[in-house]
Amino acid sequence: MQNNPVKSRVWTNVRFDEDGRHIGHLSVPISENETGYAHVPIPITVVKNGPGPRVLLIGGNHGDEYEGQIILLKMSRYLKPEDVVGTAIIIPGLNAPAVEHGTRVSPLDGGNLNRMFPGNPRGTATEMIAHYLETELLSRVDYVFDLHSGGRAMEYLPSAVVCEGDDSDLHQRSLALLDTFGLPVSLIVEGSTGGDLSMVAACQRRGVVRISTEMPGRGSVAKIEMDRAEQGLLRVLHEIGMLSHALATEERSPTKYIRRHSAREFLYSSETGVFEPCVDLGDTVSADQLAGRLHFTHNPWREPLELRFKKPGVVIFKRVLARTHKGECVFGTGDAIRGSLEKDECQGGDTL
Ligand SMILES: [Zn+2]
Repeated sequence: MQNNPVKSRVWTNVRFDEDGRHIGHLSVPISENETGYAHVPIPITVVKNGPGPRVLLIGGNHGDEYEGQIILLKMSRYLKPEDVVGTAIIIPGLNAPAVEHGTRVSPLDGGNLNRMFPGNPRGTATEMIAHYLETELLSRVDYVFDLHSGGRAMEYLPSAVVCEGDDSDLHQRSLALLDTFGLPVSLIVEGSTGGDLSMVAACQRRGVVRISTEMPGRGSVAKIEMDRAEQGLLRVLHEIGMLSHALATEERSPTKYIRRHSAREFLYSSETGVFEPCVDLGDTVSADQLAGRLHFTHNPWREPLELRFKKPGVVIFKRVLARTHKGECVFGTGDAIRGSLEKDECQGGDTL
């Protein structure tokens, strides 16, 4: 699929190769009952000033994750060619139908963009977006910053995230930027939850350095954490040489390194009910510690089901919707790594 010769059906009116600030859309063709010839417009801004680092900035990979969308909507307006050395491609709402509906997946086709790479040029709207991004956009850039959050259903410790891949050079270059990002947590992830269908995998296939964020989420916007992420992003863009002068106004803060446990080690509900959490974000938990209780509204006389952690760690995200179905994740954990960013420690998962 990676070398699929079928050309993308997505078209654009922006210019990627000319200096200046260019605004326009990626147009994803669709054909429906009430409109035979139509397209989904995805707003895009390209700011280019000569040779230099080439960077793709993405929000709205998931439509209900708002912090990154706001950061990049602002950047689409204030970033000028004289601020830039190289190229910035800014897409604040990548999965545009999901962004407009405030949903994780697209209302057009149910597509979860971050589970659809490498996409399909002849597929659904979401598959076409994934294919265009992997084949057309990733070939134009050296770095991707993909801004996520907990969305409507989850809350995360505010984190900058690096995922390990087979290419250790790419991984080390990503790790080297985490101190500068300076979010409260730097999360090292071994294997994306989306596997080779994720944007992480697409970037690894194309040899692109990628860092993402997980901001709090909860279907809302935590301004302090959003502003902190924007400042961190601006510091990193300056460090890699994409900004001609520092735009960040705040110094970085110390960050705590955590290696996320695998998705199989997260805690999932085994039945359907109302979940009462017994721990909170950032808590250090032990194996078999009570995580929460599942209550059964259809059977008040039944004792609640106790859900317990499988292994010790730090709670890095939690489900925030109380009504919980069988199989849904309620907590995610990780291992704290020693404070300094020694590469071997991150590779080896040396825990405190
Ligand atoms: Zn997301």
